[in-house]
Parts: sequence; structure tokens; C-alpha cells
Amino acid sequence: MIIFDVLTIFPALFDPFKKESLLAKAQKKKLLRLTAHNLRDWTTDKHHSVDDKPFGGGLGMVMKIEPIYKAVQKLKKKGKKSKVILFTPRGKKFTQAMAHDLSRQDQLIFICGRYEGVDERVAKNIVDMELSIGNYVLMGGEVPCMAVIETVSRLIPGVIGKPEFLQERLGKGRRKGFLEYPQYTRPEVFRARLAKGGKAINWKVPKVLMSGNHKDIEEWKSKHGKMIAG
Ligand code: SAM
Repeated sequence: MIIFDVLTIFPALFDPFKKESLLAKAQKKKLLRLTAHNLRDWTTDKHHSVDDKPFGGGLGMVMKIEPIYKAVQKLKKKGKKSKVILFTPRGKKFTQAMAHDLSRQDQLIFICGRYEGVDERVAKNIVDMELSIGNYVLMGGEVPCMAVIETVSRLIPGVIGKPEFLQERLGKGRRKGFLEYPQYTRPEVFRARLAKGGKAINWKVPKVLMSGNHKDIEEWKSKHGKMIAG
């Protein structure tokens, strides 16, 4: 079982996320455990503050180190393979290859930033890696965290049913990436009308996909697919 511990000031955002679909099933099967912890539980002042003004001035507020430090100390399981991850747009860009590495851990502790970011001493002393999900700035680390949890979870044996689902796109000799290709399902011909009263047009499925010829189908997938770097 892999344990995901999320540190956030909005734990309720994770309620629907963990209660639906494959993640819910995986938790029932005890393949993973996802807990969203409220960072305010590790504060000591009466207002449960997790942020303060930045030293040196500047706009906005910065998340304090103390609650994060205490939470990580409490949650980190001794003797287990674990990684503490901070979400920040400055971090390493998250990739499928990283997801494979993370899926081999026993525990992942995620720190979701808010406001103008997190006291730099967290990045320097507490976390093992800083992750970004792209060159844009979100309001908080919760959405990146969900993206990483979904990507890692589907690599855990048993979570997405058949392991072939994962293997198919990796293919032989493609250790460093995976193939994403166009997919179709019924009907074979879809009749569409782009304007009211206009001429009907048929949108057809490529014939080769219905040919039953596996070699041709594989060639078609390679030709029309795109290799995504791992
Ligand atoms: N300048 C701040 C920084 O560098 O962290 C941006 C703060 S942003 C408004 C608030 C939080 O959202 C960040 O602390 C981080 O946890 C999260 N975040 C925003 N964009 C992100 C991205 N592209 N990847 C990962 N986390 C992101």
C-alpha cells in the first residue's frame, strides 16, 4: 500500500476527489490511503495562522515554516521509503518517469502552498523535491497535488484493473516515453450537420482500425500517435 499524506489549508477539496472513481476503489482494496490534513491543526496561536508577512517587504503573505515542520515530523513514517514534496511553479517539471519513481515509495507527503508561496526554509531543509506541473501560476498546490496523486496511483498494480493498459502504451524499447494515439469507438460513421438545415456530413472511423490486421493497426498507431517523453 502507498500512503499519500497531503498538507493543505483546504482539506475539503480532497473529499470528492478521494470518494469517486478508481481512487475510491483503490482505497477500498487497500492499495492506497489518501488523507488530507488541515495544516491549521499544527498551529498554536488562537487564530490558527499559517501565514505571515514577508521579511524584506513585498506583496501578499507567506506560509510559515512551523506548522509544516511539525506536521511532517508527525506524519513521516519511520523505516519506510518516503518522499516529502513541495508544489511550486519553480520546481522540477513533473513527468511520467517521475511518477514511476514515486510509485515505488511507501509514503508521499505533499505540501500544498497558498498565498505568495512558502517560507524558503521549507524547500531548503524539509522537502526532498520541489515539483511544478507547468509554467503557469495556480492559486494553490491542491490541483497539482491531485494531478500527481492520479498519475502515481494508476501505476500501482491493481488500481486500473488490467496491467496491460499501462504496458500497451510503453511498448518495446520505449522505456523513456509513451505513445498517445487517436482513439475511436462506435458508431463507425457519425452523421453530423454543422448548420441548421445544412448538408449532413459523415465522420468516419479510419478503416484500418476495423481491419483486424494487428500489424497494420500498430503501424497506424505509431504513425498517427505522438511519443510523449517520460
Ligand atoms: N510565487 C509563488 C511561488 O513561487 O510559489 C507562487 C505562489 S502560488 C499563487 C500559490 C501556490 O500554488 C504555490 O506555493 C504552489 O504550491 C502552488 N502552485 C501554483 N502554481 C503551481 C505550479 N505550476 N506547479 C506547482 N504548484 C503550483
